[in-house]
Amino acid sequence: MKMKKLFALLAAVAMLASVCVGCTEKEEISAGTASGSLVISEKPLELKAFINSSKDDDGQWGVFKEAFKMTNINVVPTISKSNSSFGEAFNLMIASGNIPDIVLSYNVAQFCELAMEGAFVPLNEYFDDELKDFAAFLKENPDIEKEIKAYDGNIYYIPFIPGGVLSSGWFVRQDWLDKVGMEAPTNAEEMYEVLTAFKTQDPNGNGKADEVPYWGTTTEQISPLFPLWNARHGFYLENGKVKFGQMEKEYPDAIRNIIKWYKEGLIDEEVLTRASSARDKMLQDNIGGMTHDWFGSTALFNDTLKDKIPGFKFIPMAAPNGIEICQRPVAAKQGWGVSAGSEHLEESLRFINFFFTEEGNRLINYGVEGVHYDMVDGKPAFKPELLAQPDFKKQLTDFGIQLDIGYKQDYEYEKQWLNEIALEGLDMYEKGNWLVEPLPGNLAIQLTPEETTEYNTLRNRVTTYSNEMFQKWILGAEDFDTTYDTFKKQIKKLGYDDLITLMQKAYDRYNGK
Ligand code: CA
Repeated sequence: MKMKKLFALLAAVAMLASVCVGCTEKEEISAGTASGSLVISEKPLELKAFINSSKDDDGQWGVFKEAFKMTNINVVPTISKSNSSFGEAFNLMIASGNIPDIVLSYNVAQFCELAMEGAFVPLNEYFDDELKDFAAFLKENPDIEKEIKAYDGNIYYIPFIPGGVLSSGWFVRQDWLDKVGMEAPTNAEEMYEVLTAFKTQDPNGNGKADEVPYWGTTTEQISPLFPLWNARHGFYLENGKVKFGQMEKEYPDAIRNIIKWYKEGLIDEEVLTRASSARDKMLQDNIGGMTHDWFGSTALFNDTLKDKIPGFKFIPMAAPNGIEICQRPVAAKQGWGVSAGSEHLEESLRFINFFFTEEGNRLINYGVEGVHYDMVDGKPAFKPELLAQPDFKKQLTDFGIQLDIGYKQDYEYEKQWLNEIALEGLDMYEKGNWLVEPLPGNLAIQLTPEETTEYNTLRNRVTTYSNEMFQKWILGAEDFDTTYDTFKKQIKKLGYDDLITLMQKAYDRYNGK
């Protein structure tokens, strides 16, 4: 019903828009220079894309300027840099009915739902021609196809496909371990001893008990601790069954220990509220002992702090208890697709396909040959003088390299800027084989629109209440043992059984059962 209104609006807006688009094309685009097999449009053509603008004055990304030279398609970002929330801007855009040719989403379940109502085209209908490079990629990567295929059998978006499997792991101050005469902990008991030693033996040597033995960031917080007691926090998968950690029998023992650790000051007292800058503070102030975080960026602190903190050594340690719950999804919950109302449907499709050609993929991953990288032994390698600059990553980001769009990230890209410590950590985790079977990140696209509505309501209810209770237990506002039974009853009342049934249904569909 909503969409009918939307299309009435859309039709009205489209008539107005077509006049304007015609003008800007002539005004802003000079004669095309593109030639060769990558050319999409004979004449230069401007398309609109619902993505964030760059910080440059013209709002255009360097990678898109380069893509224009190759394809004759000038894709203009439509979200101004002043927009605060992408999600809000997305909803406003949909409500306005003025949908740009190409649209990025960070919520592909919502995107697929809108697509099923007619807002975006099924990409699979264009696999033989406009999207043939993307289609060829999927043919070689059936696991990704499985992950992005909606319940109706269509594919509506091209996802961001992360390179590599590992994302984050455990890090510990090795120089502190040396000071307290201990080794990296391998289980809950040993970790308790190490964290206690960090708390009580003044490993930073300033005479104050200011050490924060374990801290977490906004996204990871305390969850990585639960596997120490074979428990989980939140939804997860075990032997093909969808489960919710808080309702499983392993949970009470785990959370009792975590509450104890928190009370004893072994866990950052602001762990639930500290923003993503926690890592900067804990390491720069020389007070943090252990965390669970991204390999690449965390290992970099060894370079930036080596002069400031003598002996500073923050290195990856093996996953305690041999369980690692964090990994990159096969395909992210973000991606882009094409508006069904686009007047340049074919060109829009060919443009999103461009990033699956060899040239397009290299452009989005590495930038411009001779400027950002050179070809070495047939492979792109960032220029050493660029890698040596402290703001190397920022320079790439500002240009739009590895921009948030639908493409396959080249794992080699990341390996080139990782330092030795990060590479050793990744190697250790690869060999350790500690990853658990992941719950597919895009499970909601396996549900019908009606099921999705129910799923969103139930999941919101269950997680809101369980997060609230979790905070109270950790902070000591409610006693865990006297409230846990009531908690379980309340979760059931909120529709827990229906929620798990829906999620299991989605997972079984994903598996083609
Ligand atoms: Ca101290």
